[in-house]
Amino acid sequence: MFLRKALQPRLSTRLWKSYSASSLDENVFKVDHLVIGAGVVGLAVARELSFRDNSSVMLVEKNSSFGLETSSRNSGVIHAGLYYNPDSLKTKLCIEGKEMLYEYCKAKQVGYKPTGKWVVANEKGSTGQEEYLVKLYEKSKTLGIPTELFTPDKVDPSDMEDTQVLKLLNTTLILNSPSTGIISQYDYMLSLLHDAQVNGTDYFKETEVVGVQKQNEGGYMVSLLQKDQEGKQDSEIRVHAQSVVNCGGLWSDKISNFLCDSDKTKNPTQIHYKFGKGRYYTYQHLLSDSVNLEQITKKLIYPVPDKNVTTLGIHLTLDLNGKIKFGPDIEWIDNNTDYSVVQGDNIDTFVEQIRRYFPFITRDHLTIDYSGIRPKLVGDGSPLSDFIIREESGNGFPGFVNLLGIESPGLTSSLAIAKYVKNILY
Ligand SMILES: Cc1cc2nc3c(=O)[nH]c(=O)nc-3n(C[C@H](O)[C@H](O)[C@H](O)COP(=O)(O)OP(=O)(O)OC[C@H]3O[C@@H](n4cnc5c(N)ncnc54)[C@H](O)[C@@H]3O)c2cc1C
Repeated sequence: MFLRKALQPRLSTRLWKSYSASSLDENVFKVDHLVIGAGVVGLAVARELSFRDNSSVMLVEKNSSFGLETSSRNSGVIHAGLYYNPDSLKTKLCIEGKEMLYEYCKAKQVGYKPTGKWVVANEKGSTGQEEYLVKLYEKSKTLGIPTELFTPDKVDPSDMEDTQVLKLLNTTLILNSPSTGIISQYDYMLSLLHDAQVNGTDYFKETEVVGVQKQNEGGYMVSLLQKDQEGKQDSEIRVHAQSVVNCGGLWSDKISNFLCDSDKTKNPTQIHYKFGKGRYYTYQHLLSDSVNLEQITKKLIYPVPDKNVTTLGIHLTLDLNGKIKFGPDIEWIDNNTDYSVVQGDNIDTFVEQIRRYFPFITRDHLTIDYSGIRPKLVGDGSPLSDFIIREESGNGFPGFVNLLGIESPGLTSSLAIAKYVKNILY
């Protein structure tokens, strides 16, 4: 009874009645789909599943609001899908997700801008930068991603923006990606949540999954800790879910490792992330500058990435107000909550890498802003890994869908990931 009382104040009367009616016993609540984590991916998955008739969806988030972790700590770029292995889920879901995202933004009036982007080589010869861009160009043609490859002298002189940017830019070869853009992550997530809730999804914030146990009769018993109204005391609630979708972002390895059967045998597929922290610096115009970069740059500028594409390199991205930021770098850390940033952090690397394409940049142009953390399946120096999105039947856990290593381009791919998950379940 205590548990029911603990949950009751957080539910509307309608919800409370419906959960009571379908509960297995008085302390267990029953749902068809439990989605763990209200980042951009969990929100998109809950929305997609909520379109199914006659199935109930519950979305739980441990934080005080949706999207407070990686989904709001990124570059906000709608990627074209250029960089990944052509046969990978990253390529497939990024290309499909990009199209879906542009359509969605238009239909729902979510803020976005198809800015386009230039990937710029700035060294000829042995570094292989130009060869890399040529290969990227060839690959983009086979994948149907629009791109153009040109030397700086081919830029149309009547294009004021491009001409002005070129005056500041050190480049020998440019790959133009016109289908790259930017999005307001917050507006997008708010809209996804709205859609899901309109379709009947029950969303509970400050509600953390702390255990998942497979049931002999089918489905999973999920243990939740929910904070009270003041956010202080936790109450424990149990939910029986026919299917569970693990969209826990930086915590999804731990959630996956909660899995156990009724004998409490651990899931044999243990996965542990490596965490790659990435910082951003905002650009400050200096009075001594002859031009203000923010007034002339309307597109994103990326360097050629390192060989394994561990990151895309410290790039210039914009927000919808035209504010420029540079980042992210990468630092391998142990703590997936360490978002701390201090002015001067790794600034020499920032200056050195940005100056390869914008030689006028100095330390004084850069002010530390924020950081995000990547859930990496592989560490430094390893080839880029793919998204893992799978139902765990093969490991003895049918109806449990794991989403692991959902790093970039997870934001771009979110709607396509959601469709992919629905197709796994139905
Ligand atoms: C520096 C950086 C830059 C990036 N730039 C881009 C970009 O420009 N374009 C792009 O497409 N992608 C980009 N990405 C990738 C993109 O941000 C992520 O792929 C995406 O945000 C992942 O969303 P998610 O919902 O899987 O994870 P998250 O946003 O991390 O959400 C997971 C949620 O699960 C919740 N949760 C965890 N454990 C529990 C639990 N036990 N119980 C309840 N809730 C729980 C968390 O609190 C969190 O809110 C970038 C990533 C980083 C780090």
